[in-house]
Amino acid sequence: MKMTEQLKKAQANLVPGAIVEEGFLGHDRRPLADIIQHDEEAFAEHGLSWDAVAERLKYLLVEGEKGLGEPVTVEGKWRVFVYEARGQFACPWEDGLFHKDSVTVQRLENGKPVGDRLVFNQLCIHMLEKHHFLEGLGSSFRLHPAALRNVLNL
Ligand SMILES: [Zn+2]
Repeated sequence: MKMTEQLKKAQANLVPGAIVEEGFLGHDRRPLADIIQHDEEAFAEHGLSWDAVAERLKYLLVEGEKGLGEPVTVEGKWRVFVYEARGQFACPWEDGLFHKDSVTVQRLENGKPVGDRLVFNQLCIHMLEKHHFLEGLGSSFRLHPAALRNVLNL
């Protein structure tokens, strides 16, 4: 994938301190275009649809907010906890502002949380949906394709 001007601008916003203190790239040193292309390939390998994943994450966020700060069980399948945080993040692509509330989701098996834990916020959902960006390797909010498949049950 080519590094367009738009991607170059976004990449400059992904470094530590530009928008968030720790940045969005973790220890990943690849160009943004390569990170996105690799995750697009991973989505295809796992049979994941970007829209379906985004819809499921939005649904879990909305359901989790109903807990008003307490963990909730959704459809008997997920444990969802929404941590309310003040303020907003700007998208690194400079096309919107998103609440900082963070969501933690785990799959339930016999009522007990098991396996991978997804941690994300509205900006993560937006970047996934609009930019196919899951954050760099080692970033604390990175959404691993395999973890998305395992937890979201898609
Ligand atoms: Zn954006």
